[in-house]
Amino acid sequence: MTAIGILALQGDVREHARAIDEAGARAVPVRRLAEIEAVDGLVIPGGESTTLWRLAMAFELLEPLRKLIAGGLPAFGSCAGMILLADDLTDGVAGQETLGGLDMTVRRNAFGRQVDSFERDVTLDLGGGADPAGPFHAVFIRAPWVERAGPDVSVVGTDSGRIVAVRQGSLLATAFHPELTPDRRVHELFVSMVKGTK
Ligand code: GLN
Repeated sequence: MTAIGILALQGDVREHARAIDEAGARAVPVRRLAEIEAVDGLVIPGGESTTLWRLAMAFELLEPLRKLIAGGLPAFGSCAGMILLADDLTDGVAGQETLGGLDMTVRRNAFGRQVDSFERDVTLDLGGGADPAGPFHAVFIRAPWVERAGPDVSVVGTDSGRIVAVRQGSLLATAFHPELTPDRRVHELFVSMVKGTK
C-alpha cells in the first residue's frame, strides 16, 4: 500500500494522518531522514512555518528535504506547509528559509492583516475545470496567499481573487487546512498524485 509520510516536527500531524488514511493510503509520521526516504510521498502539515524551518535545521533535514523534493518526491503542504514549499517568501521572519519546489512567491500571514481566521467555500479545479462535486469548505488560519505563480503552476483554488491552492507536477499546496474538515477531495488528489494516476 502507498505510504505517505507526515512530517512530524510540529503542527497538525494527527489530522493529516487521519485524512491520508481515509483517502486511501497509509499515513506514517516521519521525523528522521531514513523514515522520509522510505515513503512514497510527504505531507507538510499546517502549524508555524518559522518553527518548522527551525526544527528542520536542528534535525539537519533542510538540505536533504530540499534535495528529495527537487528530485521528485511528491509533497503536499497546507498553510505553513504551503510556505515551506514556496520558492520565494514575503513577510517571513529575518532569515527565514523554505524548502522550495513550487515556483511561486507566498506572502506569509497575508489574510491575517485583515482577519486572522475564517471559513469560506472555495471552488476547486482538481484537474479539468470547476469540480462538479461542488465547492470545498475551506478553513483559513493566519493563512498565506500566493502572490506570484510561475508559468508551470496550476491554480487549484482562489478566494476573493487570491490564489489559495496550487499544483506543480507532483507538488500540491493549499493556504487552507483540508485536514480539519471531513471533505477528503484534496487528500484524495494528493494520494492519486503519489500513485501517479493524476
Ligand atoms: N502563519 C503561520 C506560519 O507562518 C501558518 C499558520 C497555519 O499553518 N495555520 O507558518
